[in-house]
Amino acid sequence: MIAVIICRTTGNFTSGSNFLTTNIMNRRTFVQRTLRTAGALLLPDLLLTACNGNNLCEVENWQGKAVVIGAGAAGMYAAQLLHKAGADVTVLEASGAYGGRIRPLNGFSDFIIELGAEEVHGNKTQWYKMVQNAGSEFTSTNTTDLLALGSQLLTEDEAANDPDVITAFNFVDSLGNYTGPDKSIAQHIAELGIPTRVHHLLNALIGNEFGSDNTRLGAKSIANAENLWTAGNDSYALKNDTLLSVLEYHCANILGKIILNQPVQSVTYTHNSVTVTTASGNVYTADKAIITIPLAVLKTGAVAFSPALPDAKTQAFEGIGMDAGMKIILRFNNRFWPEDTGSIYGNGFIPEFWSTGYGRSAQNNLLTAFICGPNAEYLSSLGDNAIQTALAELDALFGQGAASGAFDAGFIMDWFKQPYIRGAYSYPSPNSDVHRQALAQPVANTLFFAGEATHAQGHQGTVHGAIETAQRAVNELLCSLKE
Ligand SMILES: Cc1cc2nc3c(=O)[nH]c(=O)nc-3n(C[C@H](O)[C@H](O)[C@H](O)COP(=O)(O)OP(=O)(O)OC[C@H]3O[C@@H](n4cnc5c(N)ncnc54)[C@H](O)[C@@H]3O)c2cc1C
Repeated sequence: MIAVIICRTTGNFTSGSNFLTTNIMNRRTFVQRTLRTAGALLLPDLLLTACNGNNLCEVENWQGKAVVIGAGAAGMYAAQLLHKAGADVTVLEASGAYGGRIRPLNGFSDFIIELGAEEVHGNKTQWYKMVQNAGSEFTSTNTTDLLALGSQLLTEDEAANDPDVITAFNFVDSLGNYTGPDKSIAQHIAELGIPTRVHHLLNALIGNEFGSDNTRLGAKSIANAENLWTAGNDSYALKNDTLLSVLEYHCANILGKIILNQPVQSVTYTHNSVTVTTASGNVYTADKAIITIPLAVLKTGAVAFSPALPDAKTQAFEGIGMDAGMKIILRFNNRFWPEDTGSIYGNGFIPEFWSTGYGRSAQNNLLTAFICGPNAEYLSSLGDNAIQTALAELDALFGQGAASGAFDAGFIMDWFKQPYIRGAYSYPSPNSDVHRQALAQPVANTLFFAGEATHAQGHQGTVHGAIETAQRAVNELLCSLKE
């Protein structure tokens, strides 16, 4: 993998197996597959416990009523914690399925494909421990990345001596050191004079990975997020199980309490009472509510709050970015890329492809295109034709007809078009840190806010971040009972 050739300690660009990598390179890319199994063995004993409420606000038996809005990772885990604490909990989910941005695709290959979250980032989180406790196994494969440079497609070893590539990776490696005023990453790159021939690579490794592109990410906000990241540096993919199966395992007690197809339209609250009305006119009352609606949905104003939310909260909706995002799954009759390929960094509309099945599929004939931000908006506007764009870009990289001639079937998961998600995940837009804290703030001791975008300690845009916000919001709720 490209990531393995960065040395964090020295900042030198080097190849070899004794390396450390940056958080950013490990957050959402398939990296260090060889370390996955070893990493699992080295898991430190975590203080937090899964679903048993031990870390909660010493309120172990609250027999009140709670409503949780949204049944993604945050909502399901919050409901499970509340249930364990004794609450009578109801979960209202707008769509026809629980899991939110964790969604498996069955039947497209000889393994189950993840259409949303795919990797477990870091081994120092509650979520990592939950995956282990569910008995899930990680893949353990060793991969090589490919990257487009000019008209060439190079392996990471071939690129290792290119001075511009070295500069690009040193830039990525030093993102956490930036202390100046917040400005876009693209502006920062331009001011440093980093050659344009590697800008697409930097966009793939930073902008796209964080859920947008380099023109929309803040250099200072990224630095803050990087410095707050405590999850650990390696990423892990599940071999046989799905992330949804892990959630189901840990939240089994509340699956029957999730009511599907219930888009909440209004939330009316006082101190210690809340009334929630759904699109079909169903009314639910409770003592407290936990709201896990994705940021991009909150931005639309689809949910009316009465009384109106504090200004800081609605300003936070606008002040934090959440852009379009999609995966295009491509199945081929024959593999035209090397078997051990990890990621392929292109220079078109698609910043990154990766080999989805390596280590999981006997056939290993799938590529996933992963696109966020303005490029995803454009590809979304193409509808099914986005597949032709992906094939044309692969043909340009691997030789005329290599991809289009071998193409068998495609599947587009366009999160931008999902009415109750409307994008990929929140990202560190310029000056967004203060807004994240406001987004997370409880209102009137009755409304509590969870979900990835409310994570103000650097774990936004991840499943483990969503889980951590559920813990925080449930803790706030239980503590509010003492006031
Ligand atoms: C393409 C993609 C790839 C990703 N890859 C990774 C990865 O590899 N690793 C990782 O850790 N993270 C990854 N993520 C991010 C991760 O999926 C999310 O951060 C996490 O799943 C968010 O959980 P959540 O509970 O905050 O929100 P969600 O999962 O979005 O849950 C919110 C729920 O609220 C529901 N809802 C919305 N409006 C209403 C309403 N009005 N009434 C009732 N319900 C409503 C929605 O339908 C949804 O089910 C990825 C995300 C995407 C899109």
